Amino acid sequence: MHDPLSPRWQFDALPLLGRCFTTYPQADLWERDTANLPAPLRKVRRRAREFAEQHIEPLSASMDLAPHLPPGQAHPEVLALLQRAGREGWLSYFLPAPIGSASWATLTQPLVWQCCLVVEEFSRACGGLMLLLSAHHLGTMPLLLSGDLGLIWRLLRPVYQACQAGDPHLMAFAITEPGAGSDAEDGHGAALYRPGVVAKPVDGGWLLSGRKCYISGGDLARSVTVFAALQGEGMASWTCFHVDTAQSGFKVARTELKMGMRASGAAELELTDVFVPHDRVVGGLRQGWALNRATLNASRMPVASMGVGFARAATEVAVAFARNYKLGGKPLIHYQEVQLQLAQMVAETRAIRSMVWQEARHAWRPRQLMASACKFHATDRAQNVCEMALDLLGDHGAAHEARIERILRDVRLTRIFEGTNQINRLSLIEDWQPQLLDAHHFAGV
Ligand SMILES: Cc1cc2nc3c(=O)[nH]c(=O)nc-3n(C[C@H](O)[C@H](O)[C@H](O)COP(=O)(O)OP(=O)(O)OC[C@H]3O[C@@H](n4cnc5c(N)ncnc54)[C@H](O)[C@@H]3O)c2cc1C
Repeated sequence: MHDPLSPRWQFDALPLLGRCFTTYPQADLWERDTANLPAPLRKVRRRAREFAEQHIEPLSASMDLAPHLPPGQAHPEVLALLQRAGREGWLSYFLPAPIGSASWATLTQPLVWQCCLVVEEFSRACGGLMLLLSAHHLGTMPLLLSGDLGLIWRLLRPVYQACQAGDPHLMAFAITEPGAGSDAEDGHGAALYRPGVVAKPVDGGWLLSGRKCYISGGDLARSVTVFAALQGEGMASWTCFHVDTAQSGFKVARTELKMGMRASGAAELELTDVFVPHDRVVGGLRQGWALNRATLNASRMPVASMGVGFARAATEVAVAFARNYKLGGKPLIHYQEVQLQLAQMVAETRAIRSMVWQEARHAWRPRQLMASACKFHATDRAQNVCEMALDLLGDHGAAHEARIERILRDVRLTRIFEGTNQINRLSLIEDWQPQLLDAHHFAGV
């Protein structure tokens, strides 16, 4: 028996022209707006979703509980996933042949947008494995942004070839030091900070010494883009070096047992006179600060997409629970308070996805202000959605197998890395500053 006031049946009864302007779609909540993506991105997103559902999601619970391994060791399932991801192009989807697996058609759209779509699907499946795969791309980013085609060809082609051959060459990105997290991300702190990793000039290149910490994937990486100051100079001399981790003097001191995203190692790197030849200086001497900021502008929107992926996963867990769990003899979903909560979660998740996609679709040259706004707003809201899901599940949410406590531990980390959300708020202001402090700019407002 149809409810006579249901919009679905009402819409169907409208004359043909009226029906052109109304709809009551039955499609998946998260799939509908993907139909409006440009065709090459639709394809990438669909492939990413399939890969995530078939190969990432099945490992997510076991990899969260798996024992914390010493540096350099990895669980066989993780190695198998990396091999598959390498062969299927998920470690090289940024670059076109012959140095990557991207189709030329996808390059008609901003790279950041493509990355956001993939990261959302992978995060929905598993935060730790998503970070493991994403950290590799972060490591390659300074090379790409250096714009040095010779360097890109020389250093990234072997990476791609190894990945294609099922012998993944992972990269990592190293800016954070034991005494500097925010200082490596924010101009105010950086101006006062004395860098801990220093490059000393020698015949044919540089010797790097010092420590980097919390480097995602640094335990498995074969090369790392390491940011170091030149000997006797400060942060303004920061330079990016492409470090081969097989060089003598390079050591992974330890990996952190961290609250979430456990399938990805957070490594402390110890460098003792590690030799880097001149031709592995990325983007030129003293260009490190600019390369770092450009990398963060490109990577903060995908971090925002991690939030979208986690919020989606949390909403899905909550809906499944509300449909199956009975209270007072009827499924939870029939209670209006529960419906109100689910409606809020859906609206929040769609709002942050809209924000990220709206910015990413124009992000040929990602702007600091919007990259930071997307990062802090989407991850703050996403955590809120995950907490609403936990509320809805009650004590069931505390159980590991319900997934929501793991999603909550994972989403919390997105508010810390790539600059804490406080630092991202300051980055927004820094970018806006010329107008904000201009006495005439707001005069007419
Ligand atoms: C899971 C994970 C993965 C990571 N992966 C990487 C990686 O791959 N590569 C890498 O280089 N780093 C990585 N990091 C490090 C990360 O980028 C830093 O943790 C982050 O930048 C914050 O730095 P911090 O933890 O040292 O905090 P701190 O800089 O010590 O800040 C401590 C507190 O002070 C606040 N604060 C600092 N300065 C200001 C200010 N001026 N005004 C107001 N508040 C301020 C901060 O917001 C924070 O609340 C990772 C971290 C985590 C947790």
